[in-house]
Amino acid sequence: MSVKMDFLVDEVQRLKDEGLYTSIRTIESPQGPWVDIKGKKYLNMCSNNYLGLCSDPRLCQKAIRYIELYGVGPGAVRTIAGTMSIHLELEEKLAAFKGAEASILLQSGFTANLAAIPALVNRNDLIFSDALNHASIIDGCRLSGAKIVRYAHADPQDLDVKLKENEDHQGKKLVITDGVFSMDGDVAPLPELVEMAEKHGAMIMVDDAHGEGVLGRGGRGIVDHFGLHGKVDVEVGTLSKAFGVVGGFVSGSKELIEYLRQKARPNLFSSALTVPDVGACIAAVEMLQESDALVEKLWENGRYLKKELQNLGFDTGKSETPITPVIIGDEMTSKKFSTRLFEEGIFAGAIAFPTVPRGTARIRVMVSASHTREDLDFAVKRFAMVGKELGLL
Ligand code: PMP
Repeated sequence: MSVKMDFLVDEVQRLKDEGLYTSIRTIESPQGPWVDIKGKKYLNMCSNNYLGLCSDPRLCQKAIRYIELYGVGPGAVRTIAGTMSIHLELEEKLAAFKGAEASILLQSGFTANLAAIPALVNRNDLIFSDALNHASIIDGCRLSGAKIVRYAHADPQDLDVKLKENEDHQGKKLVITDGVFSMDGDVAPLPELVEMAEKHGAMIMVDDAHGEGVLGRGGRGIVDHFGLHGKVDVEVGTLSKAFGVVGGFVSGSKELIEYLRQKARPNLFSSALTVPDVGACIAAVEMLQESDALVEKLWENGRYLKKELQNLGFDTGKSETPITPVIIGDEMTSKKFSTRLFEEGIFAGAIAFPTVPRGTARIRVMVSASHTREDLDFAVKRFAMVGKELGLL
């Protein structure tokens, strides 16, 4: 490596010195309630595999079938090489599931935000963004060149004040919020945010990454949860969490989706999802259309685990969803907690600054519909043991 690249090593060293270096575990098995790491089984409590679909046989079989029928790759960008019928099939299924007029597929949830936001607003416009919005929303906002006004987290009154302060602005206005906030598991007050956006003539967009397959009837998402069909202009979604595969999409009016097909740069300059991704996602949507059993199981597991952890004396914050933060506070203790859990057979990561505010470090416990009651009891026992050991209980 040449000297001019020394900054790479320096920066990585800085991350290590400041305890910000991320060590990534290698999973040797399919994603599931238990995973193999270095030949040993661990209870998996940190994936977004909410419904256990990552390794579901029906998804796998559909992926294999679609490979047999359509090959593996999409060939090129859709606007250049033509779209494959299977991408349109998935888009129609997603729109029907979400109760929207239309959907457009993108390569990931992250990309969906980068696709939608800069297509809708530019440097003449204003974005009103929740202070705790996801990194992909923040990056999408930056990429758009619009002026970003942050409003206090999940605070419609503060949004109202910020919108009022910018009443005279001539350009477009866009309010953006996460649906479910992934670090705390709280739900955006979407009806009130919609009301504020409407009052001030602003567009409203929600990123439903952690709401799909979780909130609403049969996991139809946050818009369904609040009965706000037709009132949210732009809905971003991911296929990598509850749907168990990979990919992203935007749903909304027919006009919005037609516009994004023409204007969203990741649709114009990047190839679409691969065939097995699409096949597996179609199977996932079909399963959710047919039954809400997995969604119910997810909530039952979430409620049980949260109650048991609270009974032990842990602070699970303001979570309203199966995402269960165990708030420890101190960064080092939180890391130690995660390490000790790992030694006891539980894979649950510590999350600290800068992902969450300083002094609110936590173990973020992610339950899945695929966890059994025995799995959850296994976890509770070890949380109790490590909690006592570290003087937290
Ligand atoms: N939005 C939110 C709110 C997320 O939590 C995530 C994933 N962490 C994404 C978007 C990105 O989704 P994907 O993994 O599909 O890129």
